[in-house]
Amino acid sequence: MPIVGVIGGGQLARMMQPAAINLGITLRVFAEDENSSAHLGAYRVGDYLNIAALKEFCVGLDALTFDHEHVPASLLEALESDGIAVRPGSKALIHAQNKLTMRRKLAELGLPMPAWMAATSAADVEQFIANHGPEIVVKTPIGGYDGKGVRIISSVTEVADWLADIHDYGSELLLEQKVDFVGECAQLSARTPSGEFKTWPLVRTIQRHGVCSEVIAPFGSPAQQIAAEKLAKTISEGLGVVGVLAVELFETASGELLINELAMRPHNSGHFSIEGSKTSQFEQHLRAVLDLPLGATELVDQAAVMINLLGVDDNNSFVEHYPEAMALAPEAKFHLYEKTPRKGRKMGHITLVGPDSAELLKQGQAAREVLYRGSKEAK
Ligand code: ADP
Repeated sequence: MPIVGVIGGGQLARMMQPAAINLGITLRVFAEDENSSAHLGAYRVGDYLNIAALKEFCVGLDALTFDHEHVPASLLEALESDGIAVRPGSKALIHAQNKLTMRRKLAELGLPMPAWMAATSAADVEQFIANHGPEIVVKTPIGGYDGKGVRIISSVTEVADWLADIHDYGSELLLEQKVDFVGECAQLSARTPSGEFKTWPLVRTIQRHGVCSEVIAPFGSPAQQIAAEKLAKTISEGLGVVGVLAVELFETASGELLINELAMRPHNSGHFSIEGSKTSQFEQHLRAVLDLPLGATELVDQAAVMINLLGVDDNNSFVEHYPEAMALAPEAKFHLYEKTPRKGRKMGHITLVGPDSAELLKQGQAAREVLYRGSKEAK
């Protein structure tokens, strides 16, 4: 029976578990603490920065993969030189760990992106504002997620703190033109070490306050879908990605797709695939890292919609309000991640699959409202 190790015990590792059980694959999770989201599976608690603990965890694994992108490349290289099948490998993963490394590589591949530049000084930021302002986007190249580490500014003083601490961010900040996008979307794909490659349908992603709120599949004109698939293939092959790759995209008024960022693991934009696709992103990721043939990725119906459940407050108790939400939305599939509640934190999601995405969205949002309202009343 193949054994896959996952570093990180978050919701992505948690959602790999049912897929592993069905396939008869043993999944071992290396979690940060005992209360992690993935605590139900076989897991070990440890510090992923401790190379000795990591090496011990890797004994007997057929492949090592990730729930997050935070394991430093130097540690991954040490595991690779011990012969561990790290998937995706360190050479690919660095592009998902550092937004500047990603921009440089995508520029080399000639792929469409917002105008960007690496800044090392206040003068660089001022120059970029002069060229691309009045507003620009500034990002810390490492350590950002869910909009943390992203600021829209019109004056250099708004990033004075980041410039002062620039050494913490690898001595450079990423400056980007503020794209006047009409919407955001994401292209999910998977690739095996043997080079088999498959995509899911392009999806619309809707963010609120920098966090994904809803995902609608499928999305886009045939030309956009072809363009997005081509981008994903070029990136996956060009960077040597193994496993699931999510490419986050901006759609401009002319319909062009510009690359925002990359994730090399199952991704929030692909949660719809659990019920919505013939093969979920979690099953596909396991197949890919073990170099097994990939499963079919078509939608099982005309449309699928995913609605994120974000923490309302510290006393969240969505489960208590299941009866009302489930009665209201019989098509909905509810997923909770057993995470400690906190306002704005990703606590779970709802998926609906059916013929009409507008109807699914309405039903799913109504179910979410019941859970949110219930949670506030429960205080
Ligand atoms: P994170 O890594 O925290 O998810 P992103 O780089 O994806 O950060 O940015 C978060 C959000 O900020 C995006 O989803 C988008 O709404 C907005 N954003 C990021 N870059 C730009 C840009 N160049 N132009 C306009 N909006 C942007």
